[in-house]
Amino acid sequence: MKIHEYQAKELFRKHGLPVAPSKPVTAVGEAVSAADELGYPVVVKAQIHAGGRGKGGGIALVHDADGVKEAAERILGSALVTPQTGPEGRVVRTLLIEKASDIADELYLAVTVDRARRSIVVIASRAGGVNIEETAAKDPDAILKEWADPAIGLRPFQAHRLARKLGLPAEAIRPATKLILQLYKLFCVEDCSLAEINPLAITSQGELVAVDAKLNFDDNALFRHKGTAELRDLDEEDPLEVEATAVNLNYIKLDGNVGCLVNGAGLAMATMDLIDHVGARPANFLDVGGGATAEMIEKGFRILVDDPDVEAVFINIFGGILRCDVLAEGVVAAAKAVDVKLPVIVRLEGTNVEEGRKILNESGLAFGTAKDLREAAQMVGEAVKGAVQ
Ligand code: GDP
Ligand code: MN
Repeated sequence: MKIHEYQAKELFRKHGLPVAPSKPVTAVGEAVSAADELGYPVVVKAQIHAGGRGKGGGIALVHDADGVKEAAERILGSALVTPQTGPEGRVVRTLLIEKASDIADELYLAVTVDRARRSIVVIASRAGGVNIEETAAKDPDAILKEWADPAIGLRPFQAHRLARKLGLPAEAIRPATKLILQLYKLFCVEDCSLAEINPLAITSQGELVAVDAKLNFDDNALFRHKGTAELRDLDEEDPLEVEATAVNLNYIKLDGNVGCLVNGAGLAMATMDLIDHVGARPANFLDVGGGATAEMIEKGFRILVDDPDVEAVFINIFGGILRCDVLAEGVVAAAKAVDVKLPVIVRLEGTNVEEGRKILNESGLAFGTAKDLREAAQMVGEAVKGAVQ
């Protein structure tokens, strides 16, 4: 789960990380009074779940009330396009008004999971700011890393070593060491998957300030953080994904044309490979789980059919805990309710498979029932043949 910069900065404050005074607002008038209160200059910052806002015109440094008004009017309600949003952009509903920091230098600092090393890694660079991706690509040596031992955690000497290698002025090394340890602690305590500060500014007074703040959370740990879960902004998420999570379906939208409904993540992955193998592309990942009810199947099916990119639906179920007859009832109910016009290919195997097939065959609906995976794959390929290439 992602949250907005202003929400991340609240968590930063809670964990003692240095951030400038700021206030989130949702209207132009509010923006001006917040700026008057904070004192000029201020930075007007678009709040969307995507980075690169500076490059897209979503960050404005202004020196008076007129400047705030102009920036707020321009940004609020507009669809902000950044290198990370795609061409349609994201509608800005909230602005963060922040007291401007007097930036002398911009560093990069992040904590994330290094999957290959199976440990948490702290990443830092003295070349922070809006072009960090370029730095990482062109000059990987400029990216410094320290890995935390999973049993011991990040040790103070490691944070100190990073701070020294950043080439900071002598008086900033101790505060930087402390800040790195605080960010690491926040990452662990809040169950993050990413905690990033870019830029971490050094002001002309030599102080460190987190000018930007990005936190992503491990969804599987959200049950431990009720407060965090409430920070979710549904406006920023894919509407079909929101609908799916509401009924406990594991759904991820992809860019292909075959909608697939599968039980079990492993089978779902294999199914996506299979679709690819016959020259089509999956429109989504959808794992209905082992204990899916007819109602969940119906919901999942509707989500697939509601996706305008879907040109054929492939249902691939191995009936274990989820019985094939329950699945078939759900699919029939959904297909009748939504009046599907798309080809639907079903491959069933496992518990009560005969009953399941019977329900499908006697439903009066035109399902393509495949006797095995090979046949199912062929049918899927046929169904979208005209659409591919
Ligand atoms: P992003 O483009 O979405 O990553 O947004 P950031 O919050 O990182 O802001 C982009 C850039 O705007 C920063 O790298 C800074 O150069 C500039 N900026 C942001 N806040 C301030 C500030 O308080 N003072 C100054 N001088 N520049 C700022
Ligand atoms: Mn940034």
